[in-house]
Amino acid sequence: MSAVILDGKALAAKMKETVAKESAALPRKPGLAVILVGDDPASAVYVRNKEKDCADCGFLCLDYHLSADTTETELLELIAQMNDAPEVDGILVQLPLPKHLSEESAIRAIAPEKDVDCFTSENVGAMVQGKARFLPCTPGGVMALLDEYGIDPAGKHCVVLGRSNIVGKPMAQLLLQRDATVTICHSKTPNLAEECRRADILVSAVGRVGLVSADMVKEGAVVVDVAMNRGADGKLCGDVLYGEVAEKASYITPVPGGVGPLTRAQLMCNTLAASKNRQ
Ligand code: NAP
Repeated sequence: MSAVILDGKALAAKMKETVAKESAALPRKPGLAVILVGDDPASAVYVRNKEKDCADCGFLCLDYHLSADTTETELLELIAQMNDAPEVDGILVQLPLPKHLSEESAIRAIAPEKDVDCFTSENVGAMVQGKARFLPCTPGGVMALLDEYGIDPAGKHCVVLGRSNIVGKPMAQLLLQRDATVTICHSKTPNLAEECRRADILVSAVGRVGLVSADMVKEGAVVVDVAMNRGADGKLCGDVLYGEVAEKASYITPVPGGVGPLTRAQLMCNTLAASKNRQ
């Protein structure tokens, strides 16, 4: 078997087109404030991509690039200012922050109605209760991809590798809400291969090149690779050994071009939703 490729790039383009149309019909442009602290080159790339997405969707993008020695008070003051700014519907603090700043404090400072990343306790709690104000961007993007290809998690055994607050935990929640039976694996899980082989849908969000090999995948499983790693050749790759796993899976996401663009598209959907709520 050779797997069908789950084309995240194509779906993301479609999602952004819909967002742009809906955004153009609003009385005011949706506004996203993007706060970047310091000079991490990867973060700078992410921020540039978000600016481009905002331009594609007809959003106002307010960029705040703060120096690496910004104090916590200065950062929290800027977030408070954005909370009060009428033209700002969404606030995004690009993580990771420099070590001297508390990510928890920064997230806690964001008004939940503008928390388009769905990181605040209030929004995470609502999502877990099935009353999401915003979908967490990466897991939300994965669900959109499964839906696009008619892959229904109901009654399936889903195995999620990774339990971070950003990806693994919310991913498991969204699958559970769609009536899947979910197993979450992490660094202390014994017999990882055995757990993986039970998966009808396997989502890997670990960040280890080559973690998932073909012998860990059930014939015909759906394999979603969330990870964004740099291989020994410097190229972007996921956790999954794509070539060999694609021979065994029924559907598979490529890296790049799988989950990454959907995370960005989901952020645009959330910003539009935040704006609609406030207009
Ligand atoms: P993270 O916070 O580092 O979490 C990694 C998780 O993997 C942890 O729960 C860890 O377990 C688990 N883990 C580590 N080694 C393992 C092993 N050998 N077997 C099983 N589980 C193991 O990372 P993250 O922020 O969730 O991101 C995960 C990956 O997704 C990264 O490659 C990141 O770049 C990528 N990512 C991609 C997107 C996208 O848009 N495509 C968005 C976000 C993240 P413990 O909890 O026990 O430590």
